[in-house]
Amino acid sequence: MTFASLGLIEPLLRTLDSLDYKTPTAVQAQAIVPILQGRDLMAAAQTGTGKTAGFALPVLQRLMMEGPEVASNSVRALVLVPTRELAEQVLQSFVTYGQHLPLRSFAAYGGVSINPQMMKLRKGVDVLVATPGRLLDLYRQKAVKFNQVQTLVLDEADRMLDLGFASELEDVFRVLPKKRQTLLFSATFSDVIRSMASEMLNDPLSIEVSPRNAAAKSVKQWLIPVDKKRKGELFLHLYQTKRWSQALVFVKTRKGVDELEAELQRHGISADAIHGDKPQATRQRALQRFKDGEVKVLVATDVAARGLDIDTMPLVVNFDLPTVAEDYVHRIGRTGRAGSTGQAVSLVCADEVQLLSAIETLTQQVLQRVDEPDFIPDHRVPQTLPGGQVVKKPKKAKKPKVVGGGKSGSLGRWMETDEPAAPVVKAVRKVPSFGGVAGKPGKFTK
Ligand code: AMP
Repeated sequence: MTFASLGLIEPLLRTLDSLDYKTPTAVQAQAIVPILQGRDLMAAAQTGTGKTAGFALPVLQRLMMEGPEVASNSVRALVLVPTRELAEQVLQSFVTYGQHLPLRSFAAYGGVSINPQMMKLRKGVDVLVATPGRLLDLYRQKAVKFNQVQTLVLDEADRMLDLGFASELEDVFRVLPKKRQTLLFSATFSDVIRSMASEMLNDPLSIEVSPRNAAAKSVKQWLIPVDKKRKGELFLHLYQTKRWSQALVFVKTRKGVDELEAELQRHGISADAIHGDKPQATRQRALQRFKDGEVKVLVATDVAARGLDIDTMPLVVNFDLPTVAEDYVHRIGRTGRAGSTGQAVSLVCADEVQLLSAIETLTQQVLQRVDEPDFIPDHRVPQTLPGGQVVKKPKKAKKPKVVGGGKSGSLGRWMETDEPAAPVVKAVRKVPSFGGVAGKPGKFTK
């Protein structure tokens, strides 16, 4: 299948050619034609599947082919996203894919001054990518009108609900034109999302492009047991001995992020950090420097776990396990994207065994354990079993060995020789009940 056979117009085909996109991904193959035809869509697709182009290309084409010119303070296609990072990334996709089209795109999100955004909206924009909280602020200040909206895209709808945007979304839906196209993308389809979809969508086409954790399938995953206080030391040891080229490292707290960043810099490693306390411009710069390869280690809280598309990111390190098991899937989804393979290693201490067990239950796999000889923990991490059980009385550690999956050897050998089984995620995350929750914008999106 080619992009031309999907009916895309020449300026878009030219751009795709220059980007070297040769064939449509599964989500693009299924979504582009119905979107061009004006149908509503309910799509189960994660980042990494090419979903952004899956909606951006046909939305841009429809903006070119249909509807009046954009009026002042108006918007023709509205894309709602959960975080400012994703807003920037989705905007970038629209700008890239629309480079040969005379259309204006813009992103509006919280955490930065609203005035420049109000100025920018004065002339009107064809595509507005926005986080729900800031969009409502702009609407209430009469900086944006919705009467020209012909297409609404909800990107990562599950994440928006998780971040407490339920009531903001309801408020936005209430003021949008009833006659419009609606495209809903979500990694998971809980009952709440389904009921939202049944209210929002008109005879939608449902597509599911791949299992929910498709991104994780190309990711080798393992864990290294370690005492909590030695995690920093272990990370440095691994970084140096395994000659990691680049790593995205997830740490639980903002304080922890700053501490690890400082520790790495003390050892001459070019490290930067992103978390919710940092100004937006600083976060964007850190991400850009990481993407450009100037920064070798990017340390982040879960604000960076979703949506970020970093080409050829080879390695994700879970310095701390996430407290919400599903964030594990999203974290490791930052690597192994668009067909490449990646690695994800978790440094796990005894305190985290319940978190580990929750992750293993969710992903229906027992993570491969690889002991690092000089870092065998004094507080042994209890063995976990399939089905989320934790073996309560562990034996004392004797000598380095590999457990879980019955494989043996050092980390280096294991990485060369073995592929852990791909996890299959089936559990459904709990989300607030749509419409019944007085949600607040998440702290990262304000
Ligand atoms: P997304 O799932 O939208 O975040 O996209 C994941 C990555 O796949 C991005 O880096 C895109 O540039 C890339 N991509 C999207 N569609 C294609 C395609 N048809 N061929 C090659 N790469 C693609």
